Formats: sequence, C-alpha cells, structure tokens
Amino acid sequence: MNTTLIRDGLLVESDRSWRADLLIEGEKITRIAPRIDTKTLPDDTDIVEAEGLCVMPGLIDSHTHYHLVSRGTVTADSFIEGSKLAAFGGVTTVVDFADHDKKRPLVASTNDRIDAMEKEMAIDFALHQGVYGMHEGIGKELEELLKRGVSTIKIFTTYKNVGYLIGMEGLRDLFSLCKKNQIMISAHCEDDTLIEQVEKEHKGSYTPADHALLRPAEAEYRAIKYLGSLAGEFSMPLYVVHLSSSRGLDAVRELRSKGIQVVVETTPHYLLLDASRLEGPQGPLYVMTPPLRTHHDNRDIQDALIAKELQVVATDHCAFTRAQKLASDDCRTIFPGIPGTEELLPLVYTFAVASSRMSLSDLVGILSSTPARLFGLYPQKGSLQIGTDADIVLFDPEATWTLSSDTVHSASEYTPYEGFSVAGKAVMTFLRGHLIMGDDVYVGKPGEGKFLRAKTSSAYD
Ligand SMILES: [Zn+2]
Repeated sequence: MNTTLIRDGLLVESDRSWRADLLIEGEKITRIAPRIDTKTLPDDTDIVEAEGLCVMPGLIDSHTHYHLVSRGTVTADSFIEGSKLAAFGGVTTVVDFADHDKKRPLVASTNDRIDAMEKEMAIDFALHQGVYGMHEGIGKELEELLKRGVSTIKIFTTYKNVGYLIGMEGLRDLFSLCKKNQIMISAHCEDDTLIEQVEKEHKGSYTPADHALLRPAEAEYRAIKYLGSLAGEFSMPLYVVHLSSSRGLDAVRELRSKGIQVVVETTPHYLLLDASRLEGPQGPLYVMTPPLRTHHDNRDIQDALIAKELQVVATDHCAFTRAQKLASDDCRTIFPGIPGTEELLPLVYTFAVASSRMSLSDLVGILSSTPARLFGLYPQKGSLQIGTDADIVLFDPEATWTLSSDTVHSASEYTPYEGFSVAGKAVMTFLRGHLIMGDDVYVGKPGEGKFLRAKTSSAYD
C-alpha cells in the first residue's frame, strides 16, 4: 500500500484553514495532526514537504464537455486530454454530460457515457443527464437514473431547432417528477421566443460580434424568471448553469426575494472576458453560448460572486481547435465553446483571493466543497475529512506565471486567456492517493478514473 505524508502545509477546507501534516494510506486520507512522527510510518513512505503550500481538496469542475460529439465533429479534448489538462489545473473530478438519445430510455444514454468515460478518464467523474423531451414512462426512467447514480438532469430553454426544447406542459410534468424523486434540475437559460424574434428582426451581418446581439441578456432574464417561477410552484430548487449577465442576476434576485431557491453557477469567461473579444480576426475563438457580455456585466457577476450570491464557478469546457474555430467567421456556423478547466483555479484565485476580496476557504467552497455537496459527492469529494478519498491539490500561492498556449495543455492549442498574468499554480495533484501531476509532469493513467454515484443534491436538504 502506498503511504504519503504531506508535511507542514496549510490545509484549507471551505470553513477553516490550519497548518498540519496529512497522511495518505492507499486511496484515503487517514490522519491529520499538527505533527506526524515519521518513525511511526513505513520506511517507504513518500514525504512531501509542503511548507508554504496550500493543501486543498481536489477541485471539481462541475460543467465540462470532454469528447463532445456535436455538429458533425468532436471536440478537441478527449477524455484522455481532458483528464490531463484537469490534473494540471488541480481538478480531480469533473461532472460531465450525457446527451439524451430520445429513442432509448434515459439510463441507456447515461450508461453509454459511463462506459466511454471509464475506459479513458484518468480522473474521477460524475454525470448530469440531458433531458430534451418528454414521453410516456419518463417517471420510471428518472427513478432508474437515480438508482444508477445520477441526481441532476440538464434542460434547455433554447435550441428548439435541434429539438432540445420542452413545451410548457412537459416542463410542468418534468418539474413535478423531479421534485418527487429529489432530482435537481439544472438549466441553460435563454428564452427561445425572444431569440427567434431578435433573429427575425436582425438585418445585417453574422459576424462573431453579431452573436452577442442575436442572443441578448434579456433572453437570459426571461428564461430564469420563467423556470424559477416553475420551481417556486413546486417548492424545489433550480440550478442555473453559466450565468452570464447582469439581467440574469436581476432575475435571480427577484426570484430569491420571493423565497424561491435558485442555485447559480458562473464561469471564468463571464467573470473576466467581455464582448470586445469578438471583434477582429480572432473573434471566432471567443464564440460560446450564451455570448460574452459587456464589461459592466463582468463587474456585476464578479461582485455577486464575492457577495456569495453565486455558489459555483465551473468552466463549461467545450474545446474546439484553433483551426476549427477559425474555419468560419459566420456566427451561425462557428463551433461554439471554449476550453477552461485548467485555467479555472489560477484565474479565480487571482481575481478573488490574490486581490484580497475572498478567503482561501471560500475559494475551496466555490471550486470544490459546494459543487461536491450540490452534486451529491460530499464528503467523499470536496473535503479533507479522515476516511475520504485522498484527492488533493498542492497549490503554490506565491507562483506567478502567464497563461498562454505554451503554458496550458488543451488540445485546442489556444487559451481564451492568452497573456493573462496569474498568481498561484497547482504543483502536485493526487487522485485517490496516487500522484497524477507533479512538477509540471503528468503521470495520470487513462482508465484509472472512476464513475461516482451521486447522492441526492444538498439543495434538497
Ligand atoms: Zn455546457
């Protein structure tokens, strides 16, 4: 059995940080104490000197699309590539998505995705199951889903053209069934009717910058209000993925003022990038949905995160290669999505913690413990408790470096954060006790990643 002693680091959990030694035996954290005497340990114990480093639970990127088959192609980061870049970013668990194959039961879609991921993932993973339509017997299918270990579904309020939209009657049934089974509904919120109307009235070009005009923030506001009201009717939580705008935030605040439980995720790009990126020849590299908004929106989302109005930052990692992205400058055909898992920790640390606006413990909350709770993985993931998985990231808060296509590892061959100076770097990443990244060398093994059976979301507590 492998034994590793991490000595004299600053242990950080979401509610406290303290200096201590931490012992890993096999796959688990087995002891934490101010001083663990090495004489009590086997001779072959690996000793890691962590003075000056933060010892945090492995991060969870709870919104990824690795190896996404879409629009006649597949995204650049496979499960193998995705695991690797995640390890470099201190991420030891992702929650990815299974598309809904409407011809088969939901759990068949889940099982296909699990089978494909188990073969190649080198970090652990859980799943959200897409639900793009309603049909007879879906109640039973949702129960099976839960038994299989998936406790969140994902719905869309847009993309009617590709058959993702569920009508009002169907949605009401779905909310009711999810409430009954305590399944959390996560939603991509953009009102399709408004988008169609804007599209109809749009006279002009279809440049990358037009993408932002064609999908206005008002559409986010309307969809959040609509789904939130529905959640309110059933007294159940709603999880809003990738909140992008001040208007979206208005909707969240209005719903909460009525006592409706809205859990909100944003991404690094809605915190730090604005629509000016869509101008010029590199514009296609920044196309995703919802689109980038204004600098003003960035500031509002940042302030809301600091004020704890937002609960999670995840990335929506959906990477296409530079060549794929630049193959079109028509926003209707540019592959939508950007990479982000690897950049998550340094970006959020730099903007929030290095600037003294957020504590290290709160950082661990939004990037690890809270997603673990919300997606039914806590305390196995997202904690440093004795007996839990030894998923650990050693983080050097003093490191300074520059994000660029040369310093990060996505197969997309670009980073949307090119040239960003950041503070803090993951220097060692352990998955269930095994080192998967150390000193800029990746040693993860495809197939070592396990599917995690999610319990009921803490949003139902
Ligand atoms: Zn997504």
